[in-house]
Amino acid sequence: MAPNRRTLLHAGVSVTATLASATLAGQSGARDPQPPKFLLADDSESCAAAAQDFGHIVQRRPRAICKPATSGEVVDILRWAREQGLKVAARGQGHATYGRAMAEDGIVMDLGALAAIHRIEPDRVVVDAGATWHDVLDATLAKGLTPPVLTNYLGLSVGGTLAVGGIGGSSSRHGLQTDQVLELDVVTGEGVELTCSPTAHAELFDAVRAGLSQCAIITRATLRLMRAPERVRRYLLSYPDLASLTADQRRALDERRFDQLQGAVVPDSAGGWRYQLEAGVFYDSNTPPDDKVLLAGLADKRETVSDLGFGEDANAFAKLEKLLRSNGQWFNPHPWLLTYLRGSNALEVASEVIAELNSDDLGPFGRITYYPMFKDACRTPLLRLPDERVVVPFNLIRIPVTAYKANADRQVVRNRTLYDRIREAGGILYPVSALAMSSQDWADHFGARWPLLRDARRRHDPDGILTPGYDLF
Ligand SMILES: Cc1cc2nc3c(=O)[nH]c(=O)nc-3n(C[C@H](O)[C@H](O)[C@H](O)COP(=O)(O)OP(=O)(O)OC[C@H]3O[C@@H](n4cnc5c(N)ncnc54)[C@H](O)[C@@H]3O)c2cc1C
Repeated sequence: MAPNRRTLLHAGVSVTATLASATLAGQSGARDPQPPKFLLADDSESCAAAAQDFGHIVQRRPRAICKPATSGEVVDILRWAREQGLKVAARGQGHATYGRAMAEDGIVMDLGALAAIHRIEPDRVVVDAGATWHDVLDATLAKGLTPPVLTNYLGLSVGGTLAVGGIGGSSSRHGLQTDQVLELDVVTGEGVELTCSPTAHAELFDAVRAGLSQCAIITRATLRLMRAPERVRRYLLSYPDLASLTADQRRALDERRFDQLQGAVVPDSAGGWRYQLEAGVFYDSNTPPDDKVLLAGLADKRETVSDLGFGEDANAFAKLEKLLRSNGQWFNPHPWLLTYLRGSNALEVASEVIAELNSDDLGPFGRITYYPMFKDACRTPLLRLPDERVVVPFNLIRIPVTAYKANADRQVVRNRTLYDRIREAGGILYPVSALAMSSQDWADHFGARWPLLRDARRRHDPDGILTPGYDLF
């Protein structure tokens, strides 16, 4: 989002004086139309852009957008907004699907200018929260290092994924991106700058990671790094049905054959489904993996094997992004539903749901993500997962060919029905989904961890200004 008209505040005016007199131009009863001391855009083009997200389902128009360049400016904005009684939503890359980074008649805080990579050490990187994972990987790979968990798409911001979890192909080994955080610099809803970690303000640290931005805005993160492998050998194995795919996925998981294990059910050109296991093995050029050993005993032999540099492999989604941007489908509504199933009944639940879908529900480039993972490495308290050792991400990644709004609205209603069914079967929502959730739904979702989030919200955002888009409180 690039605001085309910004007002830069008068230099030399004290923050206190500015905050006290700050009102937005055009606000009724405005005593002094002098804008506050940070970049501010309230033109209709900027506000219209901030009223949209990747989902293109919900539109909520903010009163203004601001783009802080320092954490001090984040403090100023939050204090000022609180005084004005305005809600505030942080925005990273705007890839939410259901208005979660929007603030109706409030302030959208675009973190795109807070994107520096500050420091890289052998075991950690210090980055601003507006940086994308692409920025982070580029910088760390130059030193032969990588974050242990990368999302499949690198165009997401660090703050945006830490607010929800951040799952990737290595999550079975390393947990989620929220499990890789060593320290966070945040600004609370009260406008207080704090550094939190497992040993400092630990309760806030736990409430911020996967806490749906209800207590604080993340400005900077210290993230764990590991040595990056040089190359990835990637295997794409095809199966005739979900049961045989599931059996091989479970075997590969139990035997820990691959560094990355994922899979999907994808529409085929005849209106049916293809069932595929997607796996990767990391290696250095002088020790290539033995395909025969890795694939021994797996049921399917129609495998495709490819070999890529680690960075190229991590960025593989960029090709699909380019295609979807060029055919316009990137800009259509995306009524996604993302959940985690119990390992023990995943096959049964997924089979039932898939039997009721057809390829038009997904679109030709859509997919149903489906793979098992161990959850022992997932330790983020607010990241909810089914209570079993093996859980199964089960995601309806809908990429419709049409921008027809009524179609998307129908899918959103359907998402709710499917979610209710999945929940009854012990499944859990991944909150990046496009569906309406009430405060009670969220309390049920967080279960025993709900008091952690509720109490931290009361303490750190007592006026409840942050991130209204989830309807949590
Ligand atoms: C193409 C695509 C691929 C994806 N792949 C994956 C994947 O592999 N794994 C996965 O886990 N998820 C994936 N997602 C989902 C994605 O992680 C979430 O939607 C994420 O929140 C988007 O990040 P963003 O920077 O675009 O955030 P935005 O949409 O801008 O914001 C999302 C939420 O985070 C909050 N937020 C943003 N920045 C901050 C901050 N600095 N501090 C506090 N809160 C903040 C916002 O207020 C909002 O509530 C994918 C989404 C898309 C569209």
